[in-house]
This record gives sequence, structure tokens and C-alpha cells, in this order.
Amino acid sequence: MLKMKDIIDEKDKRLRQVSKEVTFPLSKEDKQNIHDMIEYLHNSQIDEIAKKYDLRPGMGLSAVQIGVLKRYYVVEYEYEEGKFETYVLINPKIISNSVEQIYVDEGEGCLSVNRYVEGIVPRYARVTMEAYDEEGRKIHIRAREDLAIVFQHELDHLNGILFIDHIDKKDPYKNKDKMRAI
Ligand code: ZN
Repeated sequence: MLKMKDIIDEKDKRLRQVSKEVTFPLSKEDKQNIHDMIEYLHNSQIDEIAKKYDLRPGMGLSAVQIGVLKRYYVVEYEYEEGKFETYVLINPKIISNSVEQIYVDEGEGCLSVNRYVEGIVPRYARVTMEAYDEEGRKIHIRAREDLAIVFQHELDHLNGILFIDHIDKKDPYKNKDKMRAI
């Protein structure tokens, strides 16, 4: 079972590297990693379990965050109280996006950034992702609002980018009026 200590911190230089494309079939290790990452995210969103094991809550986790420089991530999305949808995206890319941009009003968070960072992280309001599932089948996923933001946040991780990089240091709320807060 993954714990907080298994998730690398922003000071770790691996988070700044570009992860490598995955080839199929998946290795045993990658299958295990995916399983462990889903388990972490799920547990982290269940209050009692999160408290017991001291897990910071998160919706998305990229392989690089557990020190594996491969292009995949998982998202555990609570679409309704207590109901979760699991997404596994391997070699993902955005194939279309909305013109409209949004940002998380309370600030974006990241399991690898253990501090509050104020400011706006512009994201597309809607994206269509193309990726591969664990069996190597091509998949397309349409996402909007918070789910779209997670997909973009995690894709950034695979390219060595953190959400804090998107915030203008001199003017953290730059272009606020051009975007919608969610
Ligand atoms: Zn993150």
C-alpha cells in the first residue's frame, strides 16, 4: 500500500523530467503501480482511511510522482457522494479542447506540493483525451470542469511541469476576468 512518503516532493528533480512512452504489454511492475496508485487515491478520499494512514487526499496521481518516469496516470473521481469512477490513462494526449478557460477558485493542489500556493492556473474547461488502457486499447475520454482540470494537471506531470509553473509570480491573479472560476 502506498503511503505519503512514497510520493515524491517538488524538490525532487525527477518531477522536472519528461516521462517516457509506455510499450505494451505492460510490465508486472507497471500493473502493480497502477493498482497501488488507484488504491492510494481511493483511500485518500475516504475520511476514516485517510485519517488512519495519514493520507493527503488527491484525485489524480502520475507515475512520476512515485518515481516511475513513464507516461501514465490514474484519476479516482468522486462523481457522486461515495461513488467513484476510475480512469487509467497510458500515453495520454489532448486531442481537442475548449476555447473557454477555467481555474480552481480555491487554488489547485498537488500531492507533490506540500504547501498552499495562491494564484490562477488557467485550464481548458473541456478536453478530449486520447490514451491507451491497460490492455493497450486506444480510448477516448471527454471531460469537463474539475475532471478536465485533473487530466490536464496530470498530463503536465508527464512533461515535467507542476501547476505552480502556470502561476504568474508577479501577478498571481493575472487574466482572472478572462476565465471562469469553479
Ligand atoms: Zn500533481
